[in-house]
Amino acid sequence: MIEQDTIISLATKAGESAIGLIRISGNLCRKLSKDIFRVPSPTPRRSNLRNYVSVEGKLIDQVLFVFFDNGKSYTGEEIIEIAFHGNPLIADQILNDLLRRKCRLALPGEYTKRAFLNGKIDLSQAESVAQLISAKSEVELEIANNHLLGNLSKTLMEIQSKVLNLQARFEASIDFPEDEISDQHKDKILEIIDPIMLTVSNLLESENISRLLANGIKISLIGPPNVGKSSIFNKLLYDDRALVDREPGTTRDYLSKEIVINGFNIEIFDTAGIRNSNNNIEALGIQKSVDLIKDSKIILLILDSSLPYPTSFFEQIKDECKDRDTIIIQNKSDLTRSLNIEDFPNYFSTIQTSTLNQDCAEVIQKEIQSLLDQKYKNNHTNDIVVNKRQHNHLYKAYKSLKEVRQLVTETMNEEIILQELKLSLQEINSIIGIKDNEDMLTELFKNFCIGK
Ligand code: GDP
Repeated sequence: MIEQDTIISLATKAGESAIGLIRISGNLCRKLSKDIFRVPSPTPRRSNLRNYVSVEGKLIDQVLFVFFDNGKSYTGEEIIEIAFHGNPLIADQILNDLLRRKCRLALPGEYTKRAFLNGKIDLSQAESVAQLISAKSEVELEIANNHLLGNLSKTLMEIQSKVLNLQARFEASIDFPEDEISDQHKDKILEIIDPIMLTVSNLLESENISRLLANGIKISLIGPPNVGKSSIFNKLLYDDRALVDREPGTTRDYLSKEIVINGFNIEIFDTAGIRNSNNNIEALGIQKSVDLIKDSKIILLILDSSLPYPTSFFEQIKDECKDRDTIIIQNKSDLTRSLNIEDFPNYFSTIQTSTLNQDCAEVIQKEIQSLLDQKYKNNHTNDIVVNKRQHNHLYKAYKSLKEVRQLVTETMNEEIILQELKLSLQEINSIIGIKDNEDMLTELFKNFCIGK
């Protein structure tokens, strides 16, 4: 066991609640069980109803406590969990009493850090614990759970073993320098290295997704004035936030609101109607809308299906929309149709709506959902998404692998190749965890909450 102090903290939120939980981890646990609860040999994982009696012999609360044995607990140390009646005064009294019994308050993330140091989880799993607690959308929860199960670690270990395999091949060719390196041998090496690089680059790409999920996915409603953008915005929000008016050009600036669609955190924007305008305020609004398009991942392009194709409008936005996922919404489908859909630019899909219909919001949400599922849920990394720290190491690993590939095709200098392979292995190792880098560990665990 690396750490010896016995640490304590409240595992639940401070404040009134039905039940509160205090967690104790360290080698004083058995003694505490005997001294506080008069249970000298607690049966692991069995809950015991007992009085919590303080050092001075005062009854603090009737509690349930569970003992976890060495090696078979979250931290890998002996643990006691005490469930008490959720009054903050009781929590304080118990914590103060435990301090007098030679325990100390845990630092942020210290339980998880001990779990890592005691080999219960690797570093990427430790990070997923923090992710699991701070996740703001169901998709983030899914990803964190996936990592906690060790799926990221598994992928990284597969990469490691393939790189080790390559290393062995080059070490062998150094030992037998007289062996001519054939083109066939080179091809074999490229056959191994290319899939490794592909996996690493997919993981690198996934960091965008983690950033997106954490910050929310920006979706903007754009379209010419008076097509029904504000009406649709309101429908999606189920309230009347944007001003709806019969006069074109009423939404001068843009409005935004966070909503959740199918577990995804979405920030939705209603932009000013884009059209050529001599009115300065409106022209400013148009510019803001164009800027917003650049910042958005998904565009809901709204058109009035009772009007002809808005050529000048498309002229103004087509460049900005080129690399975005666009859903075309042909609104006002209750009116006589004049819109010719044949000359639309690239788009993900197109739907017909009328804000007069009850199911208008549902139809649009369903379409957004299918786009999100296709883009972010069923992506090639199978819900493995790396964070910034992991991305930094992977990026360096990728650079070394790229160097190796280059060397193999050009000079085949085994010694330099071996050096680069070792560098890439070091980087991958740092993701799963090196235990002797105290600064890195302090930095990583300080972002956890206390009690975890
Ligand atoms: P925006 O300028 O694009 O934000 O458009 P608004 O939401 O302000 O709507 C402009 C006008 O079109 C208002 O009078 C709305 O009531 C009307 N409108 C919006 N959606 C529909 C629709 O689906 N059908 C019909 N007939 N009118 C609509």
